[in-house]
Amino acid sequence: MTQMQDNTPRPRPSILEITPYVPGESEVAGARKVFKLSSNESPLGPSPAAKEAFRAAAEHLTEYPDGTARDLRAAIAERHGLNPDNIVCGNGSDELLTLLAQAYLSPGDEAIHTEHGFLIYPVAIRAAGGVPVVAREENLTASVDAILEKVTERTKLVYLANPNNPTGTYLPIDELKRLQAALPAHTMLVIDAAYAEYVRRNDYEAGIELVSSSHNVVMTRTFSKAYGLAGLRIGWMYAPAHVADIINRIRGPFNVNVAALAAGAAAMRDAAHLQRAVEHNEHWREWLREELTKLGLRVTPSVANFLLIHFPDEPGKRAADADAFLKTRGLILRRVAGYGFPNALRMSIGTEEANRLLVDTLRKFLEGP
Ligand SMILES: *Cc1c(COP(=O)(O)O)cnc(C)c1O
Repeated sequence: MTQMQDNTPRPRPSILEITPYVPGESEVAGARKVFKLSSNESPLGPSPAAKEAFRAAAEHLTEYPDGTARDLRAAIAERHGLNPDNIVCGNGSDELLTLLAQAYLSPGDEAIHTEHGFLIYPVAIRAAGGVPVVAREENLTASVDAILEKVTERTKLVYLANPNNPTGTYLPIDELKRLQAALPAHTMLVIDAAYAEYVRRNDYEAGIELVSSSHNVVMTRTFSKAYGLAGLRIGWMYAPAHVADIINRIRGPFNVNVAALAAGAAAMRDAAHLQRAVEHNEHWREWLREELTKLGLRVTPSVANFLLIHFPDEPGKRAADADAFLKTRGLILRRVAGYGFPNALRMSIGTEEANRLLVDTLRKFLEGP
């Protein structure tokens, strides 16, 4: 922890309790070709139309962006059948998750997240002076009953990643409805649906209907995953009018930049590209799950664009050993000890080349020298 003298400027005390978020690694020394499978980025990249719009935006760098993100919200609204007035865009969905905490938590208020939930939530909660409260999971899946057990008078927010990162598990929409129905009216449910595009299950819904029919539910989405635009930082939220109004008051007036607005709108209008990304993911996720299982590894069933791979509890065969072995061969996966998985790695679904190399390399690793 940072040492401070008595007379220096001091932040809110809860900020000193934040464990900084550690992004997925992106470099390895020595490897010829590197496959970054550590941050759930799209192996197909963005829509060609989005790249074109990005290039064209170079002609408009002198002007401030449209602070209302009118065209981007229109593209999102059209695609999802929403009222654009209920959409707020952000510099990544991280920004929106953080602004929700800033707006709705007063010092000492509680916000719930689940045991293996996304690590941005406790950062956002503490930065706002709030107290993170952890609800246990069952079978590496969020549990509505466990969340409800943690609700108190002071609970203002519940952050739920659905599907969750890094487990890839999800709650069916009926469970989300049950959760909303049982929450106090003053507690807001934040459904972080960063991976919604990838989910193909009949009992899954990202949460649009639930937002429309309640006053205390918001859904956040991102262009960083299936749309392949993580580098541009674009997220959006669908919220009741009273919540959209609050977030619009406190966000930066130009929080989404010119290039992001243009590329995001073009990406949203290219449904065929998104479809290709989702199909690629579905095919290779199932192939990888099968191949890794054949190698004797346990893989948590995932509906998203990554797999949580559990390693044997044997000397030389643990996740840390596998990580080192993979890295020297140019394969970067994500250590997830911070998420409560000291003996697992999270792998993003990659290109065919990366996926095949990963399986071959892990086979060699497990066979030993
Ligand atoms: C990747 C991810 C996000 C997206 O964050 P951005 O700021 O939009 O890039 C949000 N939530 C979860 C659970 C994620 O894994």
